[in-house]
Amino acid sequence: MELSFPTKAFRTHGGAHVPHHKNTSMMPTVEMPAPARVVLPMQQHIGAPCVPAVKKGDHVYVGTVVGEAQAFVCAPIHASVSGTVHSVEKVALSNGALADAVIIDSDGLMEPDPNLCPPQIRTKEDLIQAARDCGLVGLGGAGFPAHVKLNVPADKKIDTLIINVAECEPFVTADHREAIENGWDLLSGVYLLKRMLEIDRVIIAVETNKPDVIDILRRIADDKRYDPDDRVRVLPLPARYPQGAEKVLIHACTGRDIPTGGLPADVGCIVMNISSAAALARYVETGMPLVKRRVTIDGSAIAEPKNVFVPLGTSIHDVIEFCGGYSKPVKKLISGGPMMGFAITDDSFPVLKSNNAFLAFEEKDAIISPPTACIRCGRCVQACPMNLVPTMLEKYTEMKNTEKLQELDIMTCMECGCCAYSCPAHHRLVQSMRVGKALVKNAGRKS
Ligand code: SF4
Ligand code: SF4
Repeated sequence: MELSFPTKAFRTHGGAHVPHHKNTSMMPTVEMPAPARVVLPMQQHIGAPCVPAVKKGDHVYVGTVVGEAQAFVCAPIHASVSGTVHSVEKVALSNGALADAVIIDSDGLMEPDPNLCPPQIRTKEDLIQAARDCGLVGLGGAGFPAHVKLNVPADKKIDTLIINVAECEPFVTADHREAIENGWDLLSGVYLLKRMLEIDRVIIAVETNKPDVIDILRRIADDKRYDPDDRVRVLPLPARYPQGAEKVLIHACTGRDIPTGGLPADVGCIVMNISSAAALARYVETGMPLVKRRVTIDGSAIAEPKNVFVPLGTSIHDVIEFCGGYSKPVKKLISGGPMMGFAITDDSFPVLKSNNAFLAFEEKDAIISPPTACIRCGRCVQACPMNLVPTMLEKYTEMKNTEKLQELDIMTCMECGCCAYSCPAHHRLVQSMRVGKALVKNAGRKS
């Protein structure tokens, strides 16, 4: 029996009305020219790092494999410029970790690898192999290898594919521009996924603050030539952060709740970010793997905010220079959005597959008021989409009481920041949640 489509989004708990600041949503994406050098870390995804497949002095083309995936949860890495391998060495990543990296000096020609060719997709296995071969990871920020997500265990029946176009983080508009500029790429990727994975219905979830996206995707999805059975539909969602978080999104689209520790497949769903689906479709059409991505550059200290197509491995500094550089002294530089992104110490790090935005703010926009005593107002509890009690979790984190932290389900915290955003006493609740989760993990390792 065919599943019905919801006529409106299911109600979700909590969340926050954050200001949108979608300053770049109406600006066409600009292609960045080849940088002089790219740095391609072998760890750009969740899972095992890649193994360098080239050595100093090798010539590479755009799309040549430079990092081989030798584990299942891993995605290969491809050269994003043509040129010569300068070195293979350890580099620091923005999270403080060290990783092997292939450093390529560009010849400025951006010559594609002559061996690239579009894959033949006839079966589900072909599709999963294509997702792996093109090095696709979740482009919404998660960085989870796409082929792992698509490789659903045989005992799980998937009936719903949700395409995530919520993009609820303030400032970030990379997915918005993907939909406007490449709506057809997206939909051809969606139809391919639907056909190969034999999925009954596809819900394209878009927040209502993007009426132009709803309009353009509806026009393509409602075209009977491509979707004669009308099994692909756009669902407008209330513009309320964190509508794009996987668990929240699944509930909003289907009314289903993922159990603690479970996965979307446990409730019959696969969630894919719009840019990931479009990238897969482009690979199937052209054979060019994931070598560049759209990145939003914005914030009060950026001279010319815009969306830029960036060869992976370009330094953040080079991308910001391409956007006119800094217009004011920078107090805070953030990788990702202001709610779930993290502050980085300098702009010399390379752009990775999972980076959808870099935001630079001057001092007046970066000051956080010092915390004061908790007034037990309960706003953090009301705001938590996961029905947690952040104020209690903060207390038990301070006490290092891992039993209580587990009892209060801290591991379901997705670090969305709604609690901290809502707190009138400016408590650093997300930091507390991160510390609390680390305490629980460490306690589990020791026992
Ligand atoms: S950061 Fe965690 S505790 Fe705070 S609102 Fe989000 S899910 Fe709830
Ligand atoms: S929102 Fe802040 S002040 Fe209010 S109960 Fe939570 S921690 Fe305390």
